[in-house]
Amino acid sequence: MRIVPQRVGGIAWISEKCLESIIAEARRCFPLETGGVLMGYWTPTKVEVVITRSIGPGPASTHTESTFEPDTAYQQDQINRIYAESNRIYTYLGDWHSHPRLAEGLSPRDKRTLRMIATDRRARAPSPIVGILTKRHTWNLILWQGSIQRLTCRLVVTRLHLRRFL
Ligand SMILES: [Zn+2]
Repeated sequence: MRIVPQRVGGIAWISEKCLESIIAEARRCFPLETGGVLMGYWTPTKVEVVITRSIGPGPASTHTESTFEPDTAYQQDQINRIYAESNRIYTYLGDWHSHPRLAEGLSPRDKRTLRMIATDRRARAPSPIVGILTKRHTWNLILWQGSIQRLTCRLVVTRLHLRRFL
């Protein structure tokens, strides 16, 4: 049997304001699914990621209890605006969405999306993150990071440690 080393996740910092707006959006749509975009920057070592902005689903998004389709034109406008306003520091990091009825893990569909983003050069996010917001007693954000293993082309998913900042 091969021994697969345990992967240790990095640290994701998220601003309180950003977390609050994500939770408010999840509440607004509950029991329907919703989501959006996460923006910010990676530290030079790529071990820590700082989430400074979140974008909602957009006015033309559609929502069901287990799926959601964002308004991508709206989101692209917001991404461009935030990128410009931050002097090109805050970039697209990945997405977030709620799992009103599901577990905190990634669904097969989530993994396919993650692989698509990781391999799409236009997204410029070879190691995209995805935030899953689940509801137990309170809303809880779990952050995952995907990357493509070079030799096997397999998608590797790692859970990040979440820290908040003001
Ligand atoms: Zn999902």
